Amino acid sequence: MNISNLFKAKKIIFSLEIFPPKKESSVNVIYNTLLKMRGLPADFISVTYGAGGSEAQRQKTWEIASLIRSTYHVEPVAHLTCVNSDEQEIIETLQKLKENQIQNVLALRGDINPDVTPKCIFRHASDLAAFIRSQDLSFNVIGACYPECHFESDNLDKDIENLKFKIDNGVTHLISQLFFDNNSFYRFLDKVHAAGISVPIQAGLMPIVNKNQIEKIVTLSGASVPAKLSGILSRYSNNRNALKDAGILYATEQIFDLISHGVHGIHLYTMNNVETAVRISENIQNIISAENNEPEYV
Ligand code: FAD
Repeated sequence: MNISNLFKAKKIIFSLEIFPPKKESSVNVIYNTLLKMRGLPADFISVTYGAGGSEAQRQKTWEIASLIRSTYHVEPVAHLTCVNSDEQEIIETLQKLKENQIQNVLALRGDINPDVTPKCIFRHASDLAAFIRSQDLSFNVIGACYPECHFESDNLDKDIENLKFKIDNGVTHLISQLFFDNNSFYRFLDKVHAAGISVPIQAGLMPIVNKNQIEKIVTLSGASVPAKLSGILSRYSNNRNALKDAGILYATEQIFDLISHGVHGIHLYTMNNVETAVRISENIQNIISAENNEPEYV
């Protein structure tokens, strides 16, 4: 199914993101994760792609995406980066996706490793999006966006100017980088709409459930940490369960506020953490159903 159609049928889309098991872990780990996530009200599940990983590692993306479709009957989205792949490798991956009936691709550039010469013929995700569309394989192409600006851009206005290239090249919807401050997302939406971008934008959220996570996540994502969240982190930093509960509550409140402001969708970066995915889904399930005018289960 082309998931761009979902946005026409539903007011709010809810999706989950998982990553393939690391090289040293057994692939069964992810099967167990998916088994436990079975039944969550996800409109799609996306699977990340290791831009700097080996071919065998990257192959896991479409293998897992295929499993999600065939075994769990949920629509998968396969992430695809271009920074460390040549044209032939990208064509081969697209063919694998097609063979496995995976119709939705999140087209990304990937992070540039300054120590590795990029193989890529595409400089930006928008070039990859155009290439995927040109292959005439009927993929639905999705793109990434950055409410607090991508770190390589001088400012948000410039980043949004560049974002328009993705839309011009056929991207049908956007998934945002994670953020903890909803106001930054609302400011971003205002600017994006003023720039003439009207495709649906899903808000990317990641619950902070342990104290080792936060520093790494903030460094990688560039997300700002509001005083309320840093207060929670310091107050409960020595109590694992309290911190987990507080992190889940914080993310749930963020989602509720986003829904109240009319966002088109929520994308949960699960980090393969089943408990977080289940608890957040339970917290918001009835609210999303009500917003989508779905029948109430009693
Ligand atoms: P681009 O859109 O190419 O943007 C990169 C920079 O170039 C930006 O500063 C942009 O403003 C600028 N730019 C874009 N187009 C132009 C242009 N035409 N001219 C001049 N400048 C331009 N990484 C992975 O390795 N694997 C994953 O699975 C993965 N999944 C992700 C999922 C989401 C939802 C998000 C938000 C990010 C994900 N990433 C993933 C990280 C992503 O690869 C990095 O953030 C990367 O640095 C940028 O990728 P992009 O596709 O946004 O690049």
